[in-house]
This record gives sequence, C-alpha cells and structure tokens, in this order.
Amino acid sequence: MSLDFAGIKEKTLVLIKPDGIQRGVIGEVVNRFERKGLKVIGVKMMSLDEALLREHYAHIADKPFFPGVTKFMQSSPVIALCLEGLEVVQAVRILCGITKAREAEAGSIRGDLAMSVACNVVHASDSLETAKMEVPRFFKTDELFDYDKTEFVNVYSEDER
Ligand code: ADP
Repeated sequence: MSLDFAGIKEKTLVLIKPDGIQRGVIGEVVNRFERKGLKVIGVKMMSLDEALLREHYAHIADKPFFPGVTKFMQSSPVIALCLEGLEVVQAVRILCGITKAREAEAGSIRGDLAMSVACNVVHASDSLETAKMEVPRFFKTDELFDYDKTEFVNVYSEDER
C-alpha cells in the first residue's frame, strides 16, 4: 500500500502505552476511535527497543524525565494503531486530551482514564508532518490495509469524501 496522507486518506499513529495495556483499556481506547468514525488500517502489538524510542522521543531527549519515559515505554508491549480519516491527526489529538492527564478535558481518553503526566494511556502524532514520519516508523507498508469502509458514506458528507 502506498502512503497517502491527503483527504480522508490522512493517517495518524496512536500507541496504547504500557499503562493502558496493564489497566485493561485496549478495547475502550480502540472503541472510542471506532465510534468517532475513524478507520483502523493497521494494528499491532510490539515491544519498543532503545533505538526506536530514541528516535520517537527525540524531541524530549534532553528532558530530565526522558530516561523514565523510555523505561516506562519498555515495561510492557504497546499496541500501535494506524487510523485514517479526514483531518484525523487533529481529531485524534482532541480525542486523546492534553499531556497532563489529570487536567485533561473530561470526555477525552486521558481525561477519563488517567491521572498521570507520564502514564497517560496513549501517544498520538501531534501534526501531519510528525504523522508522516511516525506511521512508517511503526508500520511497514504491508502492515497497513487499504479497504473500503462502507460506514464512510454516513460518517462524511458527499463533498467531504
Ligand atoms: P504528548 O504525548 O502529549 O504529545 P510530549 O510529546 O510533550 O506529549 O511528551 C511525550 C511523552 O513524554 C508524554 O506523553 C508523557 O508520557 C511524557 N512526558 C511529557 N512531559 C513529562 C513530564 N514533565 N514528566 C514526565 N513525563 C513526561
């Protein structure tokens, strides 16, 4: 599958972090994305190695909490999701809520399911540019699936599709 980030083919990366795995909310998190009308085009459980985490968290590598974050992210496997939809990067960030979970808006994943800054259940790409790097970092092209989601007829108006 070729990577296409335009229109309803925009893609984003989500990770269900180790606290989400341990607390048994994999289904709850996936359910929220599905109910929103997003299309799941990739799902995998994986353990994250040092090299991948250094790349993924390069923007916080100089922060004092970085070693703690990498240790936490290796404390169990994570679930990687690739989601597709119109302006999906922004839509998923809104669904996830702000980093500091105990102050995240009620109704968001972090707002409803977490209390911590570090253990905040999910990662989500923060911009289209980031998503374009993160999706191929976690998924090979043959791990992403191109299929028609019939529900899109009802999720989007004709001019949006
Ligand atoms: P976000 O995940 O909301 O995009 P960042 O990219 O700023 O947030 O940070 C990446 C991750 O690093 C956060 O999700 C969180 O797990 C962790 N983190 C961020 N800030 C802190 C902090 N002050 N203390 C501990 N962990 C932090």
